[in-house]
Amino acid sequence: MFIKCNDKELEILKIIAHSAKELGMSCYLIGGFVRDKILGRPTKDMDIVCMGDGIALAGRVAEKFNPIPEVNFFKNFGTAQLKTGGLEIEFVGARKESYKHNSRKPEVEPGTIEDDQNRRDFTINAMAISLNKDDYGELIDPFNGIQDLANKNIQTPLAPAQTFSDDPLRMMRAIRFASQLHFTINAETFTAIKENAGRIKIVSGERIADELNKILMCPKPSVGFDLLYKSGLLKIIFPQMADLAGAEYIEGHGHKDNFYHTIQVVDNIAAHTNDIWLRWAAVLHDIAKPVTKKFEEGHGWTFHGHEVVGGRMVPKIFAQLKLPQNEKMKFVRKMVELHLRPISLTKENITDSAIRRLLFDAGEDIDALMTLCAADITSKNKLKVKRYLENFEMVKKRCAEVEAKDHLRNWQPPITGEIIMETFKLPPSRTVGDLKNVIREAILDGIIPNDYRAAYAYMMAKAKEMGITK
Ligand code: ATP
Repeated sequence: MFIKCNDKELEILKIIAHSAKELGMSCYLIGGFVRDKILGRPTKDMDIVCMGDGIALAGRVAEKFNPIPEVNFFKNFGTAQLKTGGLEIEFVGARKESYKHNSRKPEVEPGTIEDDQNRRDFTINAMAISLNKDDYGELIDPFNGIQDLANKNIQTPLAPAQTFSDDPLRMMRAIRFASQLHFTINAETFTAIKENAGRIKIVSGERIADELNKILMCPKPSVGFDLLYKSGLLKIIFPQMADLAGAEYIEGHGHKDNFYHTIQVVDNIAAHTNDIWLRWAAVLHDIAKPVTKKFEEGHGWTFHGHEVVGGRMVPKIFAQLKLPQNEKMKFVRKMVELHLRPISLTKENITDSAIRRLLFDAGEDIDALMTLCAADITSKNKLKVKRYLENFEMVKKRCAEVEAKDHLRNWQPPITGEIIMETFKLPPSRTVGDLKNVIREAILDGIIPNDYRAAYAYMMAKAKEMGITK
C-alpha cells in the first residue's frame, strides 16, 4: 500500500476491494484521505470512486460487517455513505462533468477514473490509490500531486481559469487549503483566482460561510484572510472587512492599517482559544473603524464610538454571511461593544466602581473578553506591548479581587421587581424599574454592599425620597 494505514483501515479497504470485485467493478480510494495520509494528518473520511453504481457497492460492503451499518444514499447524486470503525466512507460512481455558465452544479455522466481525476479541484486532491487486483495499493497520480505535496504547492489539474469559472467555490477551497496546510497557491492558479473572483457570486452564502469558518479555525487564520484580500474575493464576500485595509495620511499623521491589525489579533486569539465565536469577535472588533474614522486637528486620527457602531453592525454582518442569528451572535456583539473597556481601565486610576461595572456588563463572558483584549494588543514596539500586558494583568488581578468581594459576575438583583411591587403594592410600571435601577447603581458605585438587607434599607430610603409610599 503506497499510503500508511492502520490495521482497521487496511481491513476495511480489503473488504471494499473484495466487494467491488464481486460486483465486477474496479474501484479506487481518492481525494482528501490519500492527501492527508501522505501528509501524516489525521483523517476519518474515505472517498471511494468506482466504475459502476456507488450505491450498489456501498450496500455490498455494508453486508460484510457485523452489525451491518446503515447505508445513507442519495439517488439523485448516485452517492452512498456508511459509517464503520470510526470512519465515514462515501461511495460514488466515476463521473465526467460539464458545466453551464450560471451554475456550479455540473451535468454529470458516467466516466473513467481519468475523467474523475480531471474533475478534481487540485492536483493534491486528485490522487487515487488502486483497490484492484492487478495494482492493489498503488498510487495513481496523473497530475503529479505527490510532487506538489512535497513542494507545498496548490494548483489545479486542468487550466485554472476554467476550473474556477466552472465551480467558483474552488477559489475559496484553494485559499482554505493554503491556510490549513500552510501551502502556497501557485502563481498561475492565484492569477486565475483574481481574474475569476467575480464568479463567487454564483456560490451560495452557506458554502462560503463554511469555508470562512474553516479558515477561521486554522492555527494562523491570517494566511487565509490575507489571500482572500489579495485575490479580491474578500471585497465581494465581506466588503466591511476589506474596507479595514489601508492607512490614510494627513499632515504627516497616519493611522495603522486596521486590516493587518485585525488579522494579527485573530492569529493572537487563535493561539488561546478554539471558540469560533470568540474568533469571530476578533475578526469584527474594529469593523466600524472605517465608518467612524475622523481626522481631528491637533489630535490626529480618531475612531470614536467604533465599538458601539461595530456592535450594531454585527447582526447585519451575521445575516449577510449566513451565520446564525442567535445567542452566539449576541455574544459576538457584546464582545465587540466591550472590547475597549478593560484596556481603557489600564489608563486611569482604577476604581472599584469601574471594575464592578465591567464585571456587571461582561457577566459570565468576562474571561472571553479578557482573552480578546489581550489579543488586541499588537504593536511593533515590544516595550509598549510589555507595558500594556503588565497593566492588563493588573486589571485582571483587580477584577479577581472585586469579584471575590462583591460577586458580580453573574449578578442577580438582591431586590427583585416582585419584591418592589409587593412592598409598595405597585402594579408593573416604570416606577418599579426606576427603583430597581437606583438600587443597582448604588451597588455598582459601592454605596451599599451587594446584599438583601442593605438593598432593602436603601430601597425604603429612596422610595421615600421619590414619594413612593407603602
Ligand atoms: P476536507 O475534509 O478538509 O474538507 P477534502 O479534500 O476531503 O478536505 P471534501 O470536501 O471532503 O474535501 O472533498 C473530497 C474530495 O472531493 C476532494 O479531495 C476533492 O478531490 C473533491 N472535491 C471536493 N470539492 C470539490 C470541488 N468543489 N471541485 C472539485 N473537486 C472537489
